[in-house]
Amino acid sequence: MIRVYIGLGANLAEPILQLQHAVTALAQLADSRLVAVSSFYGSKPMGPQDQPDYVNAVAALDTTLAAETLLDALQRIELEQGRQRKDERWGPRTLDLDILLYGDEILATSRLTVPHYGLHQREFVIYPLLELAPLLLIPGLGALAEIALQVPRNGLTILTSGLTSGLTSGLAAPQH
Ligand code: ATP
Ligand code: MG
Ligand code: MG
Repeated sequence: MIRVYIGLGANLAEPILQLQHAVTALAQLADSRLVAVSSFYGSKPMGPQDQPDYVNAVAALDTTLAAETLLDALQRIELEQGRQRKDERWGPRTLDLDILLYGDEILATSRLTVPHYGLHQREFVIYPLLELAPLLLIPGLGALAEIALQVPRNGLTILTSGLTSGLTSGLAAPQH
């Protein structure tokens, strides 16, 4: 099994529901086990500012799927949830699922750059990831906690706790 981190984002058509549906879909992926989901965060849009704020989260998944097979599956989920690909970069969307990390691998193919190229600059990726894996090392970049020191929160807010982020199956109840 390879530990994969997936970034989730949405800013159209009830974004919290979009993320909850996406979490359910991730929990049902073949050859995979959903391990954890961060809190849901509210964030400011990148790029064009004339669009709604985003809801973002990060999920941890253990999988035996090859990286590009996983990308296929994530793009299928995006399409099932109404993602329309437009020419405008960073425009509004119902769902974005990005592979942030695929184990400790560094990948550079025509379809995949891993670690995700924006990981170390995006507060809406860094802080949810930090919640799940505070000791994480990013291949080629170093300790996530060190990277976070360089990235302001830019208005990032916590909307819901990790426990209510829409976990539906396959996860043990928290131990108290
Ligand atoms: P950004 O990549 O800046 O977050 P985006 O997520 O809106 O922008 P998309 O339209 O979702 O971009 O994806 C464009 C292409 O990025 C995809 O077709 C995919 O092949 C490629 N891609 C490269 N690396 C990754 C990755 N790590 N995760 C997901 N897609 C990736
Ligand atoms: Mg993206
Ligand atoms: Mg994407």
